[in-house]
Amino acid sequence: MVLSLIRRAASTASKVPPADEADPAAFAEGECFTTSTEDFPLSWHILLEVLPDGIAFIDGPGVIRYANDQLATLTGYARKELVGRTIEFLVPTINQNEQPALRTRSVRHSHKHKNVVDLDLTLVCKNGSETTVHLDRSPFVLDGETWHVVTIRDIYAQRAAELALAQSELRFHMAFDGNVAPMTVTNLEDRITAVNDSFCAMVGYSREELMGQDSKIFTYPEDVGITEESHRRALFGEADQNRYIKRYLRKDKRVIFVEVSRTPARDENGALLYFVFSERDITEERALSAQLSHQALHDPLTGLANRALFMDRLSQAHARITRQGGTCAVLVMDLDNFKGVNDTYGHLVGDQLLVAIAHRLTQSSRSSDSLCRSGDDEFLYLAEGLASPADAGLVAKRLLKVLTEPFSFADVKIEQHASVGVVVWDATCTDQAEIVQNADVALFEAKRAGKDRHVVFEAGMDQQAVNRFELVQELRQAFHAGEISMHYQPIVDLTTTAVVGFEALMRWRHAERGWVPPIVFIPLAEQSDLILELGTFALREAVAAASTWERKGLEINWPYITVNLSARQFQDPKLVSIIEEALFENGLGPERLIIEITESVALLDIAETLNVIERLNRLGIGFALDDFGTGYSSLSYLALMRPRIIKIDQTFVSPTLESVRNDTLLEAIVSLGQKLNMSVLAEGIETQRQFVRLRCFGCELGQGFLFAPAVPSDEAASLVGQVLGSATG
Ligand code: C2E
Ligand code: MG
Ligand code: MG
Repeated sequence: MVLSLIRRAASTASKVPPADEADPAAFAEGECFTTSTEDFPLSWHILLEVLPDGIAFIDGPGVIRYANDQLATLTGYARKELVGRTIEFLVPTINQNEQPALRTRSVRHSHKHKNVVDLDLTLVCKNGSETTVHLDRSPFVLDGETWHVVTIRDIYAQRAAELALAQSELRFHMAFDGNVAPMTVTNLEDRITAVNDSFCAMVGYSREELMGQDSKIFTYPEDVGITEESHRRALFGEADQNRYIKRYLRKDKRVIFVEVSRTPARDENGALLYFVFSERDITEERALSAQLSHQALHDPLTGLANRALFMDRLSQAHARITRQGGTCAVLVMDLDNFKGVNDTYGHLVGDQLLVAIAHRLTQSSRSSDSLCRSGDDEFLYLAEGLASPADAGLVAKRLLKVLTEPFSFADVKIEQHASVGVVVWDATCTDQAEIVQNADVALFEAKRAGKDRHVVFEAGMDQQAVNRFELVQELRQAFHAGEISMHYQPIVDLTTTAVVGFEALMRWRHAERGWVPPIVFIPLAEQSDLILELGTFALREAVAAASTWERKGLEINWPYITVNLSARQFQDPKLVSIIEEALFENGLGPERLIIEITESVALLDIAETLNVIERLNRLGIGFALDDFGTGYSSLSYLALMRPRIIKIDQTFVSPTLESVRNDTLLEAIVSLGQKLNMSVLAEGIETQRQFVRLRCFGCELGQGFLFAPAVPSDEAASLVGQVLGSATG
């Protein structure tokens, strides 16, 4: 346009002065070139001055004969300084092939005129600085001489921008093609326009198979909607950068999980151009995190939920019940004497047993309920949607029933029992931790009540539990402070009423409460390892006391001592060595010690009981079966265990039960003992009448307030060898 105007101006010029005659100033004022007003109403030099480009007219020898203001501004020379100089002065490379550094495209165009130059060159400014310019040089003939009109435009900024763009594109391609992250570019129709090698490897398709396709080719059919939704939102400008997870279907039909980051590319006006996707195969990562979260919330041995997951389900149930109402129950099941299984058969069998129990519990659980292993031998069960609170008891029975059948592992057969604490709750209960706590309290009651049963929590039980807990703490302190002592109750031969032995009974004199009966504190101690300490203490004290009686010079009929053992002690693998040590240290003969265990303890694990008895017998230590008649001893077991003494429980001896039926029972037990060659001892003889009756039946031994209560060791020593004559009659 500029050029055509100039050419037109030049071709209509009425006068062109020769270079040497031209007055540059006059030329610059446009005096040398005029246009006829009819032909072109505007003075042409005005046009040259308003054009944005630098313009110069160059005569045949190459001398600048006219320069406009823009050229002066561009070069830093005054117009007068420019006129009269050659164009090479400004652009030294005009006649060379050398191109400026910023050249980014081919600039030397073919032209129909031979002498036309149209290229990018370096312009040297007055201050020595250089800039890149685009230069057009076109010839025209003036009075038979070839002149040139040169237009010069500063394109430095444009070239710099082009270069930056080119470099950025290069960087993008390098980042795209060489990226280890799978990447794609799609157009607005979701057609792939570029993919990198990593992407091809991820989906198993070649570049050729992917180019031009839409993403459905590798999207798992059910997840096509995810892409479409994201695409739609981008097109409507709702979400620019977007990140989502979807499944891809590889060419080999393998499904993978991919995290997709989509970035839209826009032009300077914000119009969408295309999308760049960066993908990440997170299949393994997901599997690993699923595995980790499963591990964090499940018990590795049984695969059941762990306590954390259970508490989460409990809080969900709580939210449901708050919204919808209803009744739920939490049950805590604790295996009775499970430690004995580990100690007897080893941890491997213990683990197998836990797994088998978990399996049975799972099978008997309702799908809407939750089961977890919350501790070593403890399970929690959440029953939802109970029709009535009474149903909780039925759930407890159902859980206990899974243990009815014994468990068999290789050559081992185990009968395992459990105790269950139950708490029934509804929307009025706000504290979830308290629900489980109350179930624990009920469990404790079930254990206290003799195990192998369930107990439902009742108001007040928790306070009792607190009291008991405090008492255990006090008991522990009392024991360490030496406030626990042993007393000894004489055992008499009912024929002669001579003292033949003593039963060692533990005593606790509480500073405020006075005498605390063992029936209260022994079961408390049995809940922890404290019972082992107390039991060892009882053994050592009793053996030591019995050995002092011996030293007092009695040579015949030295009394034996019987010591009560609780279940935990009986299952303690160290038991025999503790006994041996006590005997050895005090020099007491083993025949003088008799271990008492109750029927219920003996029957917990009959095989193990027989094993311990056998070991004790080998040492020469006898055992007595305590509280006989209160448990469920079968006669065959009695014959197997062969206790030295059967101690008939006080309830058979006490007057309230005096009846023909009771007498028959007593007689039967006495004669059974005689036939099996065991001594029968009646506990709790309080009256002369009871004594006479028992002696009539042929009962060999007796113990009771009628003869003497339990007394301290030194008093007991004075009773040794005595005939408690006052009782006879
Ligand atoms: P047990 O082994 O059956 O002990 C006999 C209990 O009957 C003793 O109660 C004794 O004081 C009591 N007794 C004796 N004669 C009479 C009587 O004529 N009338 C009445 N009403 N009771 C009589 P104690 O000392 O209160 O012990 C209760 C239970 O505590 C014992 O029953 C035993 O199971 C347990 N126990 C006591 N000392 C120990 C111990 O050192 N270790 C263990 N593991 N348990 C112990
Ligand atoms: Mg006893
Ligand atoms: Mg007893």
